[in-house]
Amino acid sequence: MPAKLIIGNWKMNTVPSEGIKLLKELLASDLISGDVEVGVAPPFTHLAESGKAIQHSGKEVWLCAQNMHQKTAGAYTGEVGAGMLKDLGVDAVIIGHSERREYFGESHSMLAEKLKTCIEVGLRPVFCIGEPDQVRSEKRHKVWLKAQIEDSLGGFSVEQLNSLVIAYEPVWAIGTGNTATPEIVEETHSMIRYILAALFGASFAEQVKLLYGGSVNENNASELMHTPGVDGALVGGASLKATSFLPIIQAAKHGA
Ligand code: PEP
Repeated sequence: MPAKLIIGNWKMNTVPSEGIKLLKELLASDLISGDVEVGVAPPFTHLAESGKAIQHSGKEVWLCAQNMHQKTAGAYTGEVGAGMLKDLGVDAVIIGHSERREYFGESHSMLAEKLKTCIEVGLRPVFCIGEPDQVRSEKRHKVWLKAQIEDSLGGFSVEQLNSLVIAYEPVWAIGTGNTATPEIVEETHSMIRYILAALFGASFAEQVKLLYGGSVNENNASELMHTPGVDGALVGGASLKATSFLPIIQAAKHGA
């Protein structure tokens, strides 16, 4: 069974000195070892120093960016390109987080462009999908998720998507404490794999890493990580302290 993947999304939190302190606390832990894959997604301002800290520790931790621009370079003041991230030693980029979709108007087609650039540059995309509260209460989440998947991933080949990670993050669960139940997660992950199978074949759908995200914490991680179809977690708030992030990593270990 492949190792679970736990990624901490720090969002726009911590100043660089705080972030590096947190990362060093994580790197010093024996829990960061081979049997769980761990990633951190600090703000852009922390990436260079974070990369150095990871390298210095000798541990294998994915250095992730939280966003990138869809174009490779050019007159886009204030933006950050995939090539810049790659050159810094970044491994993966979170693409299509619901906060980016909601507050920065990222559309399905823009996300398709970002995914294309990300893949071409050789970075792993961590592609986020998830439905808002009203969509779930009206039982339209399957159609919603299908559109998010088809409109952004539909133009790619299986080969192009071989490093893809998907994070299912119901919007109503992000930062609310309203974690999806294991039943909802299991059912929705299998729905997502069904949609992926129709597009890319059963073997791709079975093997793609599918994370759950939305108020994962040290108390619910074990149950969620043992839920069928869950390959790991994308963690926001609880990734900001080693004391809450490390127990989530512990819960993701095989046999935990
Ligand atoms: C996230 O932002 O990806 C997330 C899952 O946040 P939280 O864990 O705080 O709900």
